[in-house]
Amino acid sequence: MENHRRKFLKSLAGLSGLAASVSPGLSVAAKSSSSQVKDIRLSKNKGYVRLVFDLDGLANHSVFALHGPERVVLDIKNTRMTHGIVDQVQANSLIRGIRSGVRNGDDIRIVFDLSKGVTPRSFLLTPSGKAGHRLVLDLHDKKSTTSSTKKSTAKKSKKRDVIIAIDAGHGGKDPGATGRAGTREKTITLQIARRLEKDINKQRGMKAVLVRKNDRYMRLRDRIHKARNAHADMMISLHADSFPDPRARGSSIYALSVDGASSETARLLADKENAADLLFGDMEFAVEDKMVKEVLFDLSLTGTIESSLDIGSEILKQIKTVNRVHKKKVQQAGFAVLKAPNIPSVLIETAFISNPREEKNLRSASHQKKVSKAITRGVNKYFSRKAPPGTWLAESDGDYTVGESDGLHQIARDNNVSEEDLRARNALYADNLKAGQVIKIPVS
Ligand SMILES: [Zn+2]
Repeated sequence: MENHRRKFLKSLAGLSGLAASVSPGLSVAAKSSSSQVKDIRLSKNKGYVRLVFDLDGLANHSVFALHGPERVVLDIKNTRMTHGIVDQVQANSLIRGIRSGVRNGDDIRIVFDLSKGVTPRSFLLTPSGKAGHRLVLDLHDKKSTTSSTKKSTAKKSKKRDVIIAIDAGHGGKDPGATGRAGTREKTITLQIARRLEKDINKQRGMKAVLVRKNDRYMRLRDRIHKARNAHADMMISLHADSFPDPRARGSSIYALSVDGASSETARLLADKENAADLLFGDMEFAVEDKMVKEVLFDLSLTGTIESSLDIGSEILKQIKTVNRVHKKKVQQAGFAVLKAPNIPSVLIETAFISNPREEKNLRSASHQKKVSKAITRGVNKYFSRKAPPGTWLAESDGDYTVGESDGLHQIARDNNVSEEDLRARNALYADNLKAGQVIKIPVS
């Protein structure tokens, strides 16, 4: 992507407070004046219980699970809540009780006592129609994992593949950035995209869909349609960075989120008018480069914040093994506009095309392969933990605790699965299994 991105983010920061900055973890919004929880609503759905907190403004929050006994803890920063409001929420078969208290003077902590372990997910919804700001907490059922050593009689898995949309940046009349040796970003992104497609398709339980298959111009709208029509579980946009100073180098990854880390952001987000403009307004005013604007805006529309960050950091960890990283953490920029269907998305700046050495790397088949394999490993690592329900990767016949003298080969044989499937299901790339490590036995 062009160096305009920096300018773009800067100008956004200046205009409205959303700066690109690092914010790992779960914090998803910020404002400096306090919010209020106006209501809490609960609904039961297949596979999860949803709690919706109606707020009168944006709020920073984090959520985590505790075990023994099972609890989920929700912290909402700088927010007040009328006493007794949690008592409105009826206990049910999952939620045994709800407690709340004030933390650090201005924050609230809500603790859900649960009858069983869950996987909590949270996200923010911005006002739409009659509804105002909402914080949504979903408590997802954990996959039941009964340990099984029994050999199932060749159970046929009808589970679907995880689908990964690969979006090669630019194309056709839009070449993207150009390197000193004349390399064009659109060419590189397509080459890496094709390699990535192959690598991903080699993974059991995964299927890649190329958003752009050849050198043609594609509008962002069409890119999104393509990903959505393919029912993508994730979208990876590939770009190459560019900067006037040829020394700038390294890979970076972007995920979109309302950013709670930057004080400037917090300060400016406090201005509700500005925040509203940003969340809903058009971005024409701030943006110089169309593609950059569109991609970032798309990420903001499709990205589910936590998943995108999570995927981004898994990929970044792997990218680090093949290239210097420009920024050590997944960069966040953007907005909290969440619209269904959500596709967690990341944008990867594979390297600086404006750096002669990296330009050479970007052109090199062997380097492209390394990058593609690194991305694939990151994707696999993520989905081995967070595969969408109904996919082969989410399915498992049970957990297996690795013993002192266990090897992958032996475990695979004992459980009647292929070593390859075992690796794919657990994103195992080295043979150094540790005793005590728990791995999933895939369905055969
Ligand atoms: Zn680009």
